Amino acid sequence: MNSLKNKVVLITGASSGFGEDAAWFFAAEGCRLVLSARRIDRLQTLVSRIQDEGGEAIAIPMDITNADDIENMAQSAVALYGRIDILFNNAGIGRVDWFENHTPERDIDLLIRVNLIGLMQVTRAVLPQMIEQGSGHIINMSSVAGLIAPPLIASYSASKFGARAFTDSLRREVAPLGIKVSGIYPGPAATEFGQHVGNSKAYGSFRKKFNIRMSSEYVAKRVVDVAKRPRRSLVIPWWFRIVTAFDMLFPAVVDWIAYIFSKSKHKLE
Ligand code: NDP
Repeated sequence: MNSLKNKVVLITGASSGFGEDAAWFFAAEGCRLVLSARRIDRLQTLVSRIQDEGGEAIAIPMDITNADDIENMAQSAVALYGRIDILFNNAGIGRVDWFENHTPERDIDLLIRVNLIGLMQVTRAVLPQMIEQGSGHIINMSSVAGLIAPPLIASYSASKFGARAFTDSLRREVAPLGIKVSGIYPGPAATEFGQHVGNSKAYGSFRKKFNIRMSSEYVAKRVVDVAKRPRRSLVIPWWFRIVTAFDMLFPAVVDWIAYIFSKSKHKLE
């Protein structure tokens, strides 16, 4: 198991949810934190609270769709700490609705730019430093939607499948350079994420029946476990592995289940 003491950890999307909770758990391990997101007020409050507990952290505002912001964040982190040991690529947004209702600007273009292109651009900005160090760990936040693609989240799933492909390819590329790359694939969890995904009737009715969600703290703690014991991927909860294996082995059956679901939910609109 790796000790995380004094490791420099850069977290994107640290102003709420998994990113914020992971910041606390990394701080408790003695890590030095670089926290980024757009809501600088929330980041600064988090930094103050971590410092009050004896931790070390700085906040850097960054819109992940802005190349200059990304470059500035990576350079500031290196200027301050001299290295980046762990990158937790976590920022993301979602949209839950029939694809014909997705807006081209926000639900397709922006969503892909934040969830996939942003994640790749941040990695590209940080990677040269890790290569120079000859070490580093990149932890990419995908989703179970990056393993199986159900109805209502076509754009989101596309972005998270992309994040998985990027994660797997990069892992195979940089392993000889001493850099580890992990993918995180959580199921639904209780964060602010759900507040920004729209309010389609179909999703609302599904949520009424199946509202099982993990806590944000639980997911964040597992991310820190991956930093301590690096591995290729983490699917949480574990039984989603069975669901995704079933989808791979019996795609026609999953298509049929999704057909029944979509047919019944289309009637609600
Ligand atoms: P939150 O909404 O709580 O957090 C999302 C974070 O992303 C915020 O810190 C937000 O910061 C940041 N973010 C969004 N847009 C941008 C942007 N343009 N530039 C920079 N930062 C941005 O949701 P979660 O904690 O749940 O989500 C974190 C990750 O986990 C996402 O990638 C999500 O897809 C993934 N995930 C979530 C699941 C869930 O059920 N909650 C399940 C599986 C995966 P700010 O607004 O301040 O910029």
